[in-house]
Amino acid sequence: MRRKIAAGNWKMNGTSAALAELAAMAADLPKEPPKVVICPPAPLLFRAVEATRTTGISIGAQDCHMQASGAFTGDISAEMVADTGAAYVIVGHSERRDAHEETNADVRNKAEAAHAAGLTPIICIGEALEDREANNTLDIIGGQLAGSLPDDVSASNTVVAYEPIWAIGTGKVPSLEQIVEVHDYIRAELVHRYGNTIGNAVPLLYGGSVKADNAALIFEAENVDGALVGGASLKAADFIPIVAALA
Ligand code: 13P
Repeated sequence: MRRKIAAGNWKMNGTSAALAELAAMAADLPKEPPKVVICPPAPLLFRAVEATRTTGISIGAQDCHMQASGAFTGDISAEMVADTGAAYVIVGHSERRDAHEETNADVRNKAEAAHAAGLTPIICIGEALEDREANNTLDIIGGQLAGSLPDDVSASNTVVAYEPIWAIGTGKVPSLEQIVEVHDYIRAELVHRYGNTIGNAVPLLYGGSVKADNAALIFEAENVDGALVGGASLKAADFIPIVAALA
């Protein structure tokens, strides 16, 4: 049985007032919840870890630098993320690949830095609308997997998230067939590269306009082990039904 994970990416949303949502989420978790990971903005990491210490919720960062330390103004290292008590870090989100021109090699270096710091990277991949329209989706995904994933992936140290860029924040969700096709392909590529045991055990999340009313359908796909949720992870009332759909 693969780990089921409901992860929330708060992006650049939330000040200390948002910590109350973590308490509300913890109070409303279903009886046998999947792994729940919330990734708040970096300034909230320490307090988010404190606020969730005795709950089933883990905390993650939204990015880390690939270097351990140095003259990188404004950046945070994986070690610094781990020092807050966070256990996860999102790397290679399309908003970073796009706005910060992160390459597959950068993402791989960040994932390796995360591993070195004892963090679990949630490595994001996904095609743009023009890639899909040109029937290039699987080529793009294959290239991102080959380039962004480190060699030391294990069943417990890495999560992969498929987030089609055109589905992020748009309310557009791929059909179940489209999700199944890509997730099955990712699973096959993981098995090909890492072997049966590891390849079949790495959790695969779907992300892009996941909401309470579409989560159950998306979770029907055999190779969807959970979700990486943006907007609907900001409020407990929106996020808990998604967590419950996975429980
Ligand atoms: P939305 O759920 O807001 O579409 O965002 C998805 C996402 O980018 C999560 O990382």
